[in-house]
Amino acid sequence: MGARTIGAFLLHGGLSLRVGALTQSDSSPMEEHGMIRDHDYRLAREKMVSTQLIPRGIKDPRVLEAMKEVRRDLFVEEALIGQAYNDHPLPIGHNQTISQPFIVALMTEALALKGTEKVPEIGTGSGYQTAVLAKLADKVYTVERIRPLMVKARNLLAQLNFQNILFKAFDGTLGWEEYAPFDAIIVTAGAPGIPQPLLDQLAEGGRLVIPIGNRFSQELMKVTRRKNSYNQESLGGCRFVDLVGLHGWKE
Ligand code: SAH
Repeated sequence: MGARTIGAFLLHGGLSLRVGALTQSDSSPMEEHGMIRDHDYRLAREKMVSTQLIPRGIKDPRVLEAMKEVRRDLFVEEALIGQAYNDHPLPIGHNQTISQPFIVALMTEALALKGTEKVPEIGTGSGYQTAVLAKLADKVYTVERIRPLMVKARNLLAQLNFQNILFKAFDGTLGWEEYAPFDAIIVTAGAPGIPQPLLDQLAEGGRLVIPIGNRFSQELMKVTRRKNSYNQESLGGCRFVDLVGLHGWKE
């Protein structure tokens, strides 16, 4: 999650996976766009689920299935494909990161999605978490403050045929009022406190998952709305890049 810890990870390469990345065929419709790499990495994903997610307590079968399906290798830079299924975050440019697979699964599971929900995601980044959410909810409203990241994620998710995602380049600490209230909200950047607009936009019984803390470490909080009170539960320690905005960190 934290961009500052990435350097060390670059030293460990999953070289065995790299070979597959070079395999090409002309059967994939995605290749017309010159972006989607053909090798599927299904075995790497199954191993990721069985060694990184299940042993750490991820149980929701729908979440495990989505993590097996979404091709994380497509959301990382070409030079890092060999590390796409490793147990850590990776850089995605603009000083931002794609979250560690376990954290994606943990946050998604905490949202308790049944498939009917409208879910705002604050911090699109690579769009990987967006894809996992889009498989599990009715609609995803994703907000990213760095426009080039939003555009890149939007193009990739369109090529992958997702049709239930709305994108916006904006300050997500303000939520997405137009479509509120929401049953579930996810924030994938670390905040100094819970942004009030997100609390306001939560439906009765709605869940908000957000990392709260200082700029170096946070606690992953799950907030559940009960009429006008909010129940808070910690899901453990984590490290994310900054949530920058009106109700987040100042730049
Ligand atoms: N879920 C993403 C994680 C991206 S890192 C993934 O798996 O790839 C967090 C992202 O939050 C960064 O891209 C950062 O630019 C974005 N971000 C930070 N503050 C934001 C804000 N106020 N509104 C929207 N996006 C924000």
